[in-house]
Amino acid sequence: MNANILVLPGDGIGPEVTAAAVSVLRAIAKRYGHDFHFEEKLIGGAAIDATGEPLPQATLDAARRADAVLLGAVGGPKWSDPKAKVRPEQGLLAIRKALGLYANLRPVTPHPATLGASPIKPHLLNGVDLMVVRELTGGIYFGDKTRDADTASDLCRYSAAEIERVVRRACTLARARRGKVTSVDKANVLETSRLWRETTERVVREEFPDIELEHQLVDSMAMHLLAKPREYDVIVTENMFGDILTDEASMLAGSLGLLPSASLGDDRVGIYEPIHGSAPDIAGKGIANPFATILSAAMLLRHSLGLEREATCIEQAVGKALDAGVLTADLAPAGRGVRTADATRAVLEQLEADC
Ligand code: ATP
Ligand code: MG
Repeated sequence: MNANILVLPGDGIGPEVTAAAVSVLRAIAKRYGHDFHFEEKLIGGAAIDATGEPLPQATLDAARRADAVLLGAVGGPKWSDPKAKVRPEQGLLAIRKALGLYANLRPVTPHPATLGASPIKPHLLNGVDLMVVRELTGGIYFGDKTRDADTASDLCRYSAAEIERVVRRACTLARARRGKVTSVDKANVLETSRLWRETTERVVREEFPDIELEHQLVDSMAMHLLAKPREYDVIVTENMFGDILTDEASMLAGSLGLLPSASLGDDRVGIYEPIHGSAPDIAGKGIANPFATILSAAMLLRHSLGLEREATCIEQAVGKALDAGVLTADLAPAGRGVRTADATRAVLEQLEADC
C-alpha cells in the first residue's frame, strides 16, 4: 500500500519519540512491502520560533494531503508565558478542528511487566482492556464565555448530531472488541447530559442492537474506574468528562510513557500521538520512553490505513520487549532503565523475529 504520513515532531521529547516511531513504521513498510512516504513539518513551539505561528499554513496544507498524521508533543516553558499571544497548544487545537477530528480514542491495557508501576493494586489491573472515546469538538470548552469583575460563565452546548457521530464511533469500536459500551454523563442535573443519554439510547437501539449499553453518572464512573476497571470495554463521553476520565484512566497503566491516542473524524486522516506532553525535564537526554508513540503508530496503521495485521504486530513487539524487561527510566527502578534508542531497537528486533 502507498501512504503519505505527515510527521509533526513538535517540542521537547517530541522529536526523539517520533523518530523512534518512524523507524518502526519504516521497518513495517519494508517487511510487508508497503510504500510509506514521510513528510515532516513544524507545529507548536518549534513552529512559533520559526514562523511566529503555532500552526503554519504549510503544516495544515500538508495535513490535508496526508493519509495520517503522527505527532510528538507541543509546549514547554519557553512558550508558557501566560501573557503570550500565541501558544504552542493552539496549534494542536487548530489542526484537530481543521481536520474535523471529533473522537479521541485512548486505549488502556496495562501490561503485566508494568503493573507494579501503577498506584492501583495489581490484582485489580490484571486483564484490564478498555478504550475511552472522548468527544473532542463540543461541550463547555468551546461554548461562549462571559466575564466581568466578579462573575463568569461558560456555556455547555451539544447538538444531537455531534453526539450521534461519536456514539456511532464508540459502538463500531465495541463491535470489534467485547461488544459493551458504557456511556458517561451527568443526566441527573445537566440538560446536555439528558440529550446525550436520549441520543445514545436511540443510536444504539436503531443502529447497534447487538451492543450492550450501560449508563454511568460521571461521579460514580470516576470511582468505578479505579475500583473495578476490568468491567469496562468502551467508555464514551463528552469533552470535559472525557478529559478528566482519560487522565484518571492513564494511572491504570503505570506510566504516561506507555499510552497512545488517536483523534479521528469521518475521513480517514487522523492524528496519532502519545498522551504525554513534551516532558521538558528530560528532553534531549535520550531517555524518553518511545513506546507510547510507537503504539500510536500502530493505531495509525489500524485506523487510518486499515493495516490491522501490521498494527497488531507492533503491539505484540512492544509487549514482548516489556516482557523481556526492556524498561525506560519512567518504569525501571531508580538509576536503572534503558535509553530511548535501546528500547526502540528492542522493538525492531522483535519485529524482525516475529512478524
Ligand atoms: P502537557 O501539559 O504538555 O500535557 P504535562 O505537564 O502533562 O504536559 P508531561 O510533559 O506529560 O507533563 O510530563 C509529565 C511527567 O512525565 C514529566 O516528569 C515527564 O518527564 C514524564 N514523562 C512524560 N512523557 C514521558 C516519556 N515518554 N518517557 C518518560 N517520561 C515521560
Ligand atoms: Mg498533560
